[in-house]
Amino acid sequence: MNEVFPESRTSLAAVFHGSGIPLELQQIPVPKPAAGEAIVRITCCTVCGSDLHTIAGKRIEPTPTIPGHEIIGTVVEIGEPAPVTVTGQLLQPGDRISWSVCVSCGTCDRCLQGLNQKCHTLQKYGHDVATGRLALSGGLAEFMLLRMNSAVAIVDPALSDAEACPANCATATVAAAMRLAGSVTGKRVRITGAGMLGLTAAAMSIFRGATHVEIRDPDLSRRSRASDFCPDAAVLEPDHEAADADVVFECSGAAAAIEKSFHSLAIGGTMVLIGSVLPGPPVSLDPERIIRRCLTIRGIHNYTPEDLQAALDFLIRSHDRFAFDQLVERTFPLADINAAVAWAMEQQPIRVGILPGAVS
Ligand SMILES: [Zn+2]
Ligand SMILES: [Zn+2]
Repeated sequence: MNEVFPESRTSLAAVFHGSGIPLELQQIPVPKPAAGEAIVRITCCTVCGSDLHTIAGKRIEPTPTIPGHEIIGTVVEIGEPAPVTVTGQLLQPGDRISWSVCVSCGTCDRCLQGLNQKCHTLQKYGHDVATGRLALSGGLAEFMLLRMNSAVAIVDPALSDAEACPANCATATVAAAMRLAGSVTGKRVRITGAGMLGLTAAAMSIFRGATHVEIRDPDLSRRSRASDFCPDAAVLEPDHEAADADVVFECSGAAAAIEKSFHSLAIGGTMVLIGSVLPGPPVSLDPERIIRRCLTIRGIHNYTPEDLQAALDFLIRSHDRFAFDQLVERTFPLADINAAVAWAMEQQPIRVGILPGAVS
């Protein structure tokens, strides 16, 4: 018996069995951490759009699974040898950490070409089957097993849980998109879609010295939230006329937005596609325009360990300027997970936070 686990060595977890079935609260045994592993006490998990897509049946995941991958937690036990952070520190009990949703080997051809998120032996937190020793693999639980080869980063105490939770999903994905787009300093940036990705892309573009940042979204309430979050950005309806953009971050996944953004690209411009994460209709792109205007179109899915560290570095340097904590619009105890999901589906907040330590 250990004071970390007062009653038994188990963890409450919300288990997903399929769309239309309420998440089931279960007690799951907490394994002893082996080499390169750690047990993490989860302090907050924000529910991502992709979690809601899974729960709504818009994407299919193997079940049973414990959803949730935007997680902040504190290390309570470590295996021998201890896991190592992306900056080379040995993890210790008490460390407050964020870790990549992707667990990659680091040695296969994809990892070696900087596509760790497409590793041949990829595992993903919040997406794997929750059975056996590795069952505690999602954020909607009191504890999680940090697996060997996880990309882990220490979180600066100046960042609140709400500010730091999306670091390993939206913020790191935007950091990866920025890496693909190249420098935005002195450039005109257009962002389509004012959800978590779009707002983060706007903040990061402003922070990195873009001269003009505009956010486009057809939804009035999302536009007003965007204006509050990012007063230095121009917040526009999709059809608003504007000058061409040097860089587009397409965060909406909407076919019309992709086509419109393509036509707004200045000569030499780059469009990074981030938002199209569900099957959608094909879009029409004129190849002659790509050639004659020397355009670049790239896609990014997830991110590398370096992008996670870049995301946390960005948050610590910018959280005084952008109210990331306000994007977590409401929190719920873990026991109220089904109420939290229902509220998120109905209200469409940027994020809802689950606090495993809170009492229902
Ligand atoms: Zn996510
Ligand atoms: Zn690999």
